[in-house]
Amino acid sequence: MSIIQTPSVTSVPVSFEVYPPRDDAADAALHETIAKLAAVDPSFISVTYGAGGSTAGRSLEVLRHILRETRVEPLAHLTCVGNSYRQATALIREFLDAGVRSFLALRGDPPDGGGSGAVGDLESAAQLVQLIDRVQAECSPYTEAPIPGVPGAARVERRRHVDIAVAAFPNGHPRSRYPAEHIDALLAKQAAGATLAITQLFFHADDYLSFVARARSAGVEIPILPGIMPITSPSRLRRIVELTGEPVPGTLAVDLDVEPTVEGRRDVGVRYAARLCRAVLDGGAPGIHLYAFNHHRTVLATLAEAGVITPIEETS
Ligand code: FAD
Repeated sequence: MSIIQTPSVTSVPVSFEVYPPRDDAADAALHETIAKLAAVDPSFISVTYGAGGSTAGRSLEVLRHILRETRVEPLAHLTCVGNSYRQATALIREFLDAGVRSFLALRGDPPDGGGSGAVGDLESAAQLVQLIDRVQAECSPYTEAPIPGVPGAARVERRRHVDIAVAAFPNGHPRSRYPAEHIDALLAKQAAGATLAITQLFFHADDYLSFVARARSAGVEIPILPGIMPITSPSRLRRIVELTGEPVPGTLAVDLDVEPTVEGRRDVGVRYAARLCRAVLDGGAPGIHLYAFNHHRTVLATLAEAGVITPIEETS
């Protein structure tokens, strides 16, 4: 069974990314956001992990909250950076023990932007994919199913594999050493057992669609979910471009710059992201993954504008 579920509320499968809150006030706000996001029955809500390990405990708290309070599948990000092989093994066990069954295996970025020296003995996301699969096999080598009509008897069945997502980069990874390295990295992650790819954000539908075509012709068969972020202010756009190395999207940058009001800039960002959602869905995307930045209104407005959900009335 794929983690991309047939939707019941939305017209296509959707999923969201949130990050662990920094303080109690942000914690309460995130709980409200999670409840609102859960109401549209997403395939999963993913929770980021700070490379360096500083947010491991807080990530697990958010994952536990999703498990406890919603029926949505939580998906845990994990990074190689900040974790030795032994530390990552212990962490995966802890997440599995908490009931987490889906992961996003990442290499992570060294905190100082430094080179591979900051990575420990786990050097690539592909190795982390294999480790997650191995730890799960050790924790639950098989499952048991009742035999109908034979009380107390159980049949041993093959274990349900954990879902392991990985990152993909439509415009290449900023530190790639040759043009197709990001596609080779994705093939290696698929070979290691990844079941889903989620892309870095991008600003033009063709970035995603042409990347998927290239990945498919190179042999990538796993679903590739487009990661989309509605950007509603010039300062956030500048920060995102700086962090991801994506080329500046000219139209969006100008439209955000000339719009005088906060509300107006929000509408600009929502409309831009909604057009992107429609275009990638029309091009065959298997669903939409939205970077929610711990706020539900903008991402839900984007889905409504794209015709994926019916508009939601906000009372406050
Ligand atoms: P890999 O698949 O191992 O490598 C991908 C690319 O990185 C390769 O193509 C290559 O170009 C380059 N690369 C690989 N090894 C090296 C090396 N030794 N030296 C130089 N370049 C190399 N980061 C976080 O810290 N926490 C998160 O929660 C998080 N969530 C993310 C979610 C998504 C959907 C995406 C797209 C990214 C996320 N990131 C997160 C960022 C990610 O960790 C970085 O982009 C990282 O640089 C690459 O990770 P990867 O798993 O793709 O690495």
